[in-house]
Amino acid sequence: MESLQTPDRLVRIAVDLVNTRTLEPEQLTKPADVRRFLLDHGEPEPVRTGEADLVEVREIRELIRPVFHAEPAEAARILNELLAQYAVRPYLSDHDGSPWHLHVAKPDASWAEWLAAGTALGLSGFAAGHGFEAIGVCAAGDCERVFVNPAAKRPRRFCTPTCASRTRVATHRARRAGR
Ligand SMILES: [Zn+2]
Ligand SMILES: [Zn+2]
Repeated sequence: MESLQTPDRLVRIAVDLVNTRTLEPEQLTKPADVRRFLLDHGEPEPVRTGEADLVEVREIRELIRPVFHAEPAEAARILNELLAQYAVRPYLSDHDGSPWHLHVAKPDASWAEWLAAGTALGLSGFAAGHGFEAIGVCAAGDCERVFVNPAAKRPRRFCTPTCASRTRVATHRARRAGR
């Protein structure tokens, strides 16, 4: 399993994992969906996933989700708990001919355990660098997607410009209707 040489990647994985279930239909419905998610996020083959991985990864996803919703102190507490439970002392590995990279999960970690350790570490580093205000949930009423905002000149409220403009249009319409 790859890890950590690019903390940004772990943050991306955390955001994308949480966004596999929002108000839209569940995207992780079978083991192959977990496999596809991991491959799409740069995990090299072999990536094998079974029913247990599907169940566990969905559980881990719900442990990570509150980090995006909570107040900073609570988000930090959740991340610390995830780190305590799933992360191990980091160690370098060049297994299977891969370039040297850091591992933060135990050697025999399941995909879910690896995701928990990696995303908790990625989000912790991100929050330490950018502040928890750079981690959020879309403010559009019918969205619920989470996002990170590393270039936080000013706080961001929406996952995408699409949600921002949809909300602007809806607010405008509501105002006109109320007049
Ligand atoms: Zn590895
Ligand atoms: Zn949105």
